[in-house]
Amino acid sequence: MSVGPAPETKMQFLFALRSRGVTDARVLNAMEGIDRGRFVRGLFAERAYEDMPLPIACGQTISQPSIVGLMTQALQVNPRDKVLEVGTGSGYQAAILARLARRVYTLDRHARLVREACAVFEQLGLTNITAIVGDGSYGLPEQALFDRILVTAAAEDPPGPLLAQLKIGGIMVVPVGQSDTVQTLIRVQRTETGFDYGELRPVRFVPLLAGLAKDG
Ligand code: SAH
Repeated sequence: MSVGPAPETKMQFLFALRSRGVTDARVLNAMEGIDRGRFVRGLFAERAYEDMPLPIACGQTISQPSIVGLMTQALQVNPRDKVLEVGTGSGYQAAILARLARRVYTLDRHARLVREACAVFEQLGLTNITAIVGDGSYGLPEQALFDRILVTAAAEDPPGPLLAQLKIGGIMVVPVGQSDTVQTLIRVQRTETGFDYGELRPVRFVPLLAGLAKDG
């Protein structure tokens, strides 16, 4: 069982987050409390505290910590919120959301990633996360509406079913773009009459793909 990073490594990790614009005390506190090393396996585990994306199983990636922080910050999660994440991946982002929200639902099209993430949630005692195998483009109608929705794979446009599953006043953060290289992180807020859109920053995510993965 890993013991987590040395205090100096942890300080550097938090310093890197702050210097890249993650300033929200609640977000920093949540990130301090979740050991990224638990979500990265094999050769790359020793780089878990560097501010870089890393490969995980099924050809996917765990996002760069500062991007996780900036997305979480933009989502403005409240302690009573019900949150949907699309793209469980390693489970790292979901674990951070779980420290900030009442309940987190997270979906991935790879059964193996969901299985492995669940095992880590259990080891960490995170009991308010439900991870489900599914095509997140359709959201999770049986648990809708959501206060917050975070998409961690890039779509051409914000998927319609996700917009429909957002509460009035609710916020969705999603990377959008036509190609693998040019994507923009956007923040969408549902109003009484429609949606307000704002651009946050350029990003690079794996694509949001249709259907379940065939290889598990
Ligand atoms: N949030 C993750 C990183 C996500 S990587 C973390 O903290 O580690 C993007 C993930 O989105 C991948 O695991 C990929 O399998 C998943 N994905 C892509 N398209 C999807 C879809 N339509 N529905 C659900 N998950 C999807």
